[in-house]
Amino acid sequence: MDFTLTKEQLLIQKMARDYAEQYIQPLVERIESENAVPKEVIEGLAELDLFGMPMPEAYGGAGAGYDTYVVALEQIARISCGPAMIISAHTLGLGAINNFGTEEQKQRYMPKCCRGEHIASFAFTEPGTGSDPKQITTTAVRDGNHFVINGTKRFISNGTYPGPVVLFARDQENGKITAFIVEKFCEGYSVSKPWEKVGWHGGDLVDIYLKNVRIPAENVLGERGYGYPILQYGIAFGKIGMNAIALGTLLAAYEEAVTYAKEKTHRGEPIAKFQTIQLRIADIAMKYEASRWVAYRLGCLANQTKDYADFAREAAMAKVIVAENAFSATRIALDIHGSYGLMTDYKISRLYRDAVMGPQIEGVIDMQKIIVAGSILFK
Ligand SMILES: Cc1cc2nc3c(=O)[nH]c(=O)nc-3n(C[C@H](O)[C@H](O)[C@H](O)COP(=O)(O)OP(=O)(O)OC[C@H]3O[C@@H](n4cnc5c(N)ncnc54)[C@H](O)[C@@H]3O)c2cc1C
Repeated sequence: MDFTLTKEQLLIQKMARDYAEQYIQPLVERIESENAVPKEVIEGLAELDLFGMPMPEAYGGAGAGYDTYVVALEQIARISCGPAMIISAHTLGLGAINNFGTEEQKQRYMPKCCRGEHIASFAFTEPGTGSDPKQITTTAVRDGNHFVINGTKRFISNGTYPGPVVLFARDQENGKITAFIVEKFCEGYSVSKPWEKVGWHGGDLVDIYLKNVRIPAENVLGERGYGYPILQYGIAFGKIGMNAIALGTLLAAYEEAVTYAKEKTHRGEPIAKFQTIQLRIADIAMKYEASRWVAYRLGCLANQTKDYADFAREAAMAKVIVAENAFSATRIALDIHGSYGLMTDYKISRLYRDAVMGPQIEGVIDMQKIIVAGSILFK
């Protein structure tokens, strides 16, 4: 056991940190107010290989593993969660193609995605369900060498970027969930206006509408009728990026708390002299330290995993720990700021809005605890 980052990881961490500070930081206000990530940021992140970091080199990826991906994405999210959300959702969709796709599908979709020219999505949630795949109502009807897909997918990240979306629909012949690779903006594909989220501004989020979308049968991902394992994989692997984003927010909140505690004075002395503030700083530091090793470890496990059910349990535990720590640490950092923390011109208020996102997405906290308890009590 060796809890140190490799030389390569330290280098990639520094590259991501430097890029985020130099090129994303000056655009943060614009990202927040326009709820969009400028094209030049997408291009810059692509140059850093962030769109293919854990993907195999054979398909245009960097082959750097999911652990390195977490280390890099944390640094992007430390500055702005919007660009990090785009990469996280993209890596989830692309990872599903890498894991379950045929050679032909991988050759067709992965290189452009790894270069950031196309951005992938993963579409499960519907207006009627976010936690229960049994309630999926989007339909797929076989028609010769094609499938015809109809339905609505809610809250789909990266839905407005061209590229593949791994989409789950109920096969009308066998009643089972099947995964399909759909090319966004094909005939019959349209999107809603963007959702105005509380946090993670700039991260692209829309509903997608599928009206008689015809896709060739060779675009079934994995086996027909066996979409559920792909969905399970996705829900688990999506938590790797989600954790990295929460961790970046936690780190930023930690830094803000320390800076404020040293700068804000009472009777001519910094508030850092109060033990109440010291205890809070220690709490935040401990939450960061514990969370980062849990998040990095999940990345390491993802590099080796063959058993997705086992990984799903690990991912569920990690998500609860990191998302809840990020939220409570950011809340503590806000407390340190007193009323100033409630003012939108103080960065901590944005971090608080960002931290509130983690517990709800990639599976709500309750469902993660149900997964963990089920694996202990009813295995
Ligand atoms: C920024 C963002 C990005 C997203 N990106 C994507 C994406 O790219 N692709 C995608 O498919 N989805 C995406 N989503 C959707 C998200 O993953 C779901 O919204 C989330 O999983 C929760 O589903 P829900 O909102 O329908 O909650 P519900 O499932 O309706 O849950 C609501 C409440 O009911 C409780 N509950 C539900 N079922 C049970 C149960 N069986 N037992 C006990 N309690 C239960 C939950 O604990 C929760 O408190 C995104 C959402 C956001 C906010």
